[in-house]
Amino acid sequence: MPHRIIVLGAGYAGAVTAGRLAKRLRREDVALTLVNAEPDFVERVRLHQLAIGQDLRPRPLSEMFAGTGVELRLAKVTGIDVDRRTVAVIDANGAEELEYDTLVYALGSGWNTQGVPGAAEHAHEIAGRPGALRLRERLAGLATGQSVVVVGGGLTGLEAATEIAEARPDLDVALAARGELADWLSPKGRGHVRKVFEKLGITVHEHTVVTGVEADRVATADGTSVPAAVTVWTTGFAAHPIAKATALEVTGTGQIVVDGTMRSVSHPEVYAIGDAAMAVGPGDKPLRMSCASGGFTAWQAADAVAARLTGGKLPNVPIRYFNQCISLGRKEGVIQYVTADDRAVRAALTGRLAAVYKELVCKGAAWGVGNPTLGMPTRRRRVVQQPAARAGSAVEASA
Ligand SMILES: Cc1cc2nc3c(=O)[nH]c(=O)nc-3n(C[C@H](O)[C@H](O)[C@H](O)COP(=O)(O)OP(=O)(O)OC[C@H]3O[C@@H](n4cnc5c(N)ncnc54)[C@H](O)[C@@H]3O)c2cc1C
Repeated sequence: MPHRIIVLGAGYAGAVTAGRLAKRLRREDVALTLVNAEPDFVERVRLHQLAIGQDLRPRPLSEMFAGTGVELRLAKVTGIDVDRRTVAVIDANGAEELEYDTLVYALGSGWNTQGVPGAAEHAHEIAGRPGALRLRERLAGLATGQSVVVVGGGLTGLEAATEIAEARPDLDVALAARGELADWLSPKGRGHVRKVFEKLGITVHEHTVVTGVEADRVATADGTSVPAAVTVWTTGFAAHPIAKATALEVTGTGQIVVDGTMRSVSHPEVYAIGDAAMAVGPGDKPLRMSCASGGFTAWQAADAVAARLTGGKLPNVPIRYFNQCISLGRKEGVIQYVTADDRAVRAALTGRLAAVYKELVCKGAAWGVGNPTLGMPTRRRRVVQQPAARAGSAVEASA
């Protein structure tokens, strides 16, 4: 019987892992299934572009994985039983249970309201495509002079505020940040962000903690409020909730705790990658939820699964950061070079060249996902490991 590997989620991390496994393992020895709720790969890093009216290139997963040996299953994951090693899914034909020997969990993340009152009801989000499309419709309906407040001064907040202000110079765009604008960047990077914000006429509310969202304003910790016909919430991401509902060891925020090979510390037949994983990187710091981390963790997990199944050497994919790429609208950007553990160094690339660089990075990431097995040497090895008996199964009971 082939070893059944199920990869949950065909985002930046899951799609790459599935493709890499297909190149590492003999087709006769494995049944490799990739489960994704949506029929196409969503370029999450461009959702602020989608929100302001740009159209993203459709990337059907069926085309991407045709002929790769990966069976694509379009269905929504509704639960996982890690003791019985089953995944519950639902599609147009109804609910079903899929059995696995090895599971790779890559369901990503969504927006994080951090429990701020009114955010879930009144704010818009761009962490997922449905949210970005709702914001797109709302922004399109705004009249000249109406206000948009982006809450969150991180990478996504900077990108969203500048994209909206550039596309809709008629709107009154503001950004609320807990600290100073782009304060984690180098002086050069920070200075450039400030310059672009000024040029685009974006009001910056620094040292501002938003404590509530209403239909037409946000309330702040100092007792004031900022008018907001539209509030865009970008204060970080929250791991997909399904992991938290399993017996897997997860962090308080629902990320699956993994070792250096991306294997769950509580369930050795489960791996977690991308935003869903709590993995430790250089400097013993948790990896940042990002495409960069997603890529490293995807390679590491695929190679570790393959090595363990084929009796090969465990991989040691170098996990380190090189830069943070920030678009500031379509014409401006900052490429902030960083240390291995993601701290800004002095050097930063700014301006038009940075915007072009960022665009190439986005294109490259999508190309990598869209061509999951292309350009990778094929080294398909025989599976020699038998899956361990399932808890409570007949095999285990009779042993
Ligand atoms: C607007 C925006 C800009 C960003 N910009 C950058 C950037 O510049 N650089 C950077 O590094 N990162 C950026 N990020 C973060 C980056 O997009 C994420 O870190 C990355 O997408 C994580 O990859 P992933 O594979 O873990 O998850 P995802 O890409 O979210 O993939 C998860 C997959 O799981 C599927 N899925 C979810 N739930 C289910 C379910 N129940 N059943 C079946 N399938 C399901 C989804 O459809 C999706 O295909 C940005 C994010 C946003 C929202």
